[in-house]
Amino acid sequence: MPKKGTKSSKGTGSEPKEQERRQKKLPEHLELQRTRVVCKFDGPVNTEGFQYGGAFSAMGIDNSVSVDKFCKDFKVEIKRLTEDDVEFDMIGIDASVANAFRRILIAEVPTMAIEKVLIADNSSVIADEVLAHRLGLIPLDADPRLFEYISENDAPNERNTIVYKLHVSCKKGSPRLTVKSGDLEWLPEGSQLPLASPAQSRDKKKTYTSFSQSQKDILEKPLGVKLKDITIARLGPGQAIELEVHAVKGIGKVHAKWSPVATAWYRMLPEVVLSEEFKGDDAEELVKKCPVNVFDIEDLGNGEKRAFVAKPRACTLCRQCVTGPSGEHVHLRRVRDHFIFTIESTGALPPETLFTEAVRILEEKCERVISELS
Ligand code: SF4
Repeated sequence: MPKKGTKSSKGTGSEPKEQERRQKKLPEHLELQRTRVVCKFDGPVNTEGFQYGGAFSAMGIDNSVSVDKFCKDFKVEIKRLTEDDVEFDMIGIDASVANAFRRILIAEVPTMAIEKVLIADNSSVIADEVLAHRLGLIPLDADPRLFEYISENDAPNERNTIVYKLHVSCKKGSPRLTVKSGDLEWLPEGSQLPLASPAQSRDKKKTYTSFSQSQKDILEKPLGVKLKDITIARLGPGQAIELEVHAVKGIGKVHAKWSPVATAWYRMLPEVVLSEEFKGDDAEELVKKCPVNVFDIEDLGNGEKRAFVAKPRACTLCRQCVTGPSGEHVHLRRVRDHFIFTIESTGALPPETLFTEAVRILEEKCERVISELS
């Protein structure tokens, strides 16, 4: 019987074999198919990945996904970060997961958006419903994480509703007035409009919300709109708009006004390979073909010049470089597990926070599936 502690060192003999299987390499052409999408002149090939763990078992190679390997290889590298957008590289991940993040960002990360518009007066030329639609699309400067969802039966309160008012008029004899999003005024105490129905208006103090305390007491900073110069309407002399809007928490899946991103998209990392040297006139010609300057020329020192791939990341896959007889020596590829991800925020949340929120939502979904299964 093996002594305590010696069993694992000897093992069953299967661990070294397992390690060997994992370390074995595929032949070059198969490795290319497994890790790259090859972009030919008339379209891409090898677009489908090899998800099946036993895809190469006949060659003694383990293609299975392992959590350890994923944790070791997965990387996020931020390339550009501004107030409105972020570009980062997500490396070591499958397209399905990258796409899950994109879809969650567009449709499932919540924001606050205007849901109800109570119009007391609108003598402008813009119809009420058009005005309401325009108001709904204004990005609000309000962190959705500080608010709760409201359901049909809930009363609008300080935890689930934000109220703004818009009261603008253009005096007779004045020039035309442009109404901007910055004219919306936050009402931290809730609605100021008395309830309209005769039954409800017996109590004159009743309004359209039931705030028990001021939002100033529960929020650290005042609320407003993200962009103050969005045109809402133009008023002529004698025209006026008086209304109140109620913003609530929601997701883009229900209506695009709640989507926190202008867009969220990704592309696979481009790879450009020259299988032959391009020298002299050929080099000049290749450089001229590329509209985004992927190629450059280096001086070899003996009076010769050679083209080289200077900025592969900029490649847009226009395929100009693979035209002509020399095109067969230029190889365009995409790295299958390396995504250049761009998130453009509408302003409700900083772009980097949007991504962490998307990760949190995916994590919650996975936990839900695991708990349902168990
Ligand atoms: S595909 Fe277009 S952008 Fe990419 S390297 Fe060739 S010419 Fe340049």
